[in-house]
Amino acid sequence: MYGQEILDISAKRAFIISDFDGTLSPIVSEPLNAEFEVDAVATLVDLSFRFKTVAILSGRSSDFILSKAAVSSAYMDGFKDQIKIFGLYGNENLKEDLRLTEAVADIARELDSQFSNAVLVENKLISVTVHYRNNANKKRVIGESIDSVLSNYREFTVIPAKMSYEVVPKIFKKKGDVITDLLKSHDGGYYLGDDVGDLDAFKALKMQPSKATCSVAIRSTDTPQDVINAADISVGSTKEAVKFLKKLKAEFE
Ligand SMILES: [Mg+2]
Repeated sequence: MYGQEILDISAKRAFIISDFDGTLSPIVSEPLNAEFEVDAVATLVDLSFRFKTVAILSGRSSDFILSKAAVSSAYMDGFKDQIKIFGLYGNENLKEDLRLTEAVADIARELDSQFSNAVLVENKLISVTVHYRNNANKKRVIGESIDSVLSNYREFTVIPAKMSYEVVPKIFKKKGDVITDLLKSHDGGYYLGDDVGDLDAFKALKMQPSKATCSVAIRSTDTPQDVINAADISVGSTKEAVKFLKKLKAEFE
């Protein structure tokens, strides 16, 4: 399982960035019920005292991530103070854009009425997630419906994710943009993810060979083979991902 994962780097100048769903949180059939893997919050907080930056980079909102971290009450304060959350792929500042949030609300409403209760349409203020995990056989039809709604909203596009579609404004930052930005102020670091959206982050790491970086794929439910192939190493589950983080904690004492 482990190979080239211990980077020759000072933790004080390095980052650990992780995706949430399927990486730090086991995939569940009801997306709003996702929870942190056992020990994940505590381990991230421990790591934050060693590494320059420990962050979660997710399509979820930072409020959602914080509410889930709150379950680990003993570590909540440390989490709040120490862990950076790039919610909605680092685009949460767009929440101030009323024209945008109104368009998103309209899109969410239109999609909701198209699908009735067959799929969960989640309005995330600046993006809409259409979860089809419980209707995976309708993936194509759902995709076509989204395309037809978006023909009236030219400033938006669709990003396919694991068992969901993300409807996002075209100006949206992707995970790789956030990583590229972080690399400017770090010597390198780790990125953990399990999904097609994480490929963009893996690529951003690879594009800067002068930095010491390691991408880690989590082989959780439905992880695409492309993601496993693109990563430097892979681990077998969200539990294994936490174990990997604990290993880093021991190595970068
Ligand atoms: Mg994920």
